[in-house]
Amino acid sequence: MEMNTRIISHEFEYFAPNSIQETLILLDQHGSEAKIIAGGTDLVSQMKMGKHTPAYIIDIKRIKELQYIAGDMVLKIGAGNNLRGVMNFFLPASVPYAGLYESIRSIGKTQVLNMATIGGNLCNGSPKADTAPPLLTYDARIKLVSLKGERILALKDFHSGPNRTIMEANELMTEIQLDKLPKGTSSAFEKKARVGADISKITCAVTVVRDGDVCRSCRIALGAAAPVPMRAFQAESMLTGKIMNDALTEETSQQVAQEINPPTVGRTHPEYRRHLAAVMFKDGFRRAWQQAGGGK
Ligand SMILES: Cc1cc2nc3c(=O)[nH]c(=O)nc-3n(C[C@H](O)[C@H](O)[C@H](O)COP(=O)(O)OP(=O)(O)OC[C@H]3O[C@@H](n4cnc5c(N)ncnc54)[C@H](O)[C@@H]3O)c2cc1C
Repeated sequence: MEMNTRIISHEFEYFAPNSIQETLILLDQHGSEAKIIAGGTDLVSQMKMGKHTPAYIIDIKRIKELQYIAGDMVLKIGAGNNLRGVMNFFLPASVPYAGLYESIRSIGKTQVLNMATIGGNLCNGSPKADTAPPLLTYDARIKLVSLKGERILALKDFHSGPNRTIMEANELMTEIQLDKLPKGTSSAFEKKARVGADISKITCAVTVVRDGDVCRSCRIALGAAAPVPMRAFQAESMLTGKIMNDALTEETSQQVAQEINPPTVGRTHPEYRRHLAAVMFKDGFRRAWQQAGGGK
């Protein structure tokens, strides 16, 4: 059984580079034996449990080049921003991105929000990462950089299994990119956890584009509902271009429940997760729909 021993029982060499370039050189030299540390809120406990025993730690916390949020048609979020900074940027008044704001607010603990970074939340690879579902509904892209160059890929292709990503050992995530959302867009995030501000049992993010009574598009993503954060594409297609009514929302919620692939081990029974997925989709959809219609 994995135990949090409260001590890191192995030795490692520590680097604190000041720039992306220095970090990439270190990753090139030590990548397979090294671990990036940003806020450390996932990595340190994993090291205490012996899940990771890196010979080298590369601390990117001080790299200002990774801490920015800027752009108009494409919003660029540096991977090194702490969660508090990102949350404050997307205040609730920022209706299109309300789901991202709510996902970070659900993490709740002041110390964690101050330390943890948005890049760390994604790179940790957890199917439960709270920022992943709203970012998936925004069709977010991520930028991965190494000494060999950079690649930009869709977030939906980033996670490859529970706690795994397609990132190479010599790569650094530098940026998350969001396209400007069309007029009439709103989003919401729902989370079920054992207690407030806990790791989720299941989450659901919904982003809708509303035109009067017509749903121009709806994107649905769930966390802790499958081996990786996932989109419910079939459920989404049931709503595209439709005049909304309660029966259609109910029917779509049943499709969301069918589409997830919940783990069969752990504290939460798969059928309960399916039930929660349906309920949370309905709650999230109704909130996003109302916000998109100016409260109607
Ligand atoms: C008390 C507590 C409560 C928590 N509650 C929640 C919660 O409610 N919801 C939730 O989603 N999470 C929660 N977490 C988990 C954690 O805080 C988040 O996942 C956080 O965003 C991780 O960010 P970090 O900067 O601390 O990552 P780190 O721990 O520094 O790194 C995590 C992983 O990502 C890699 N990494 C980090 N940044 C980069 C980068 N730029 N490029 C490449 N690799 C990188 C590291 O090598 C490591 O493997 C909680 C943690 C604690 C301790």
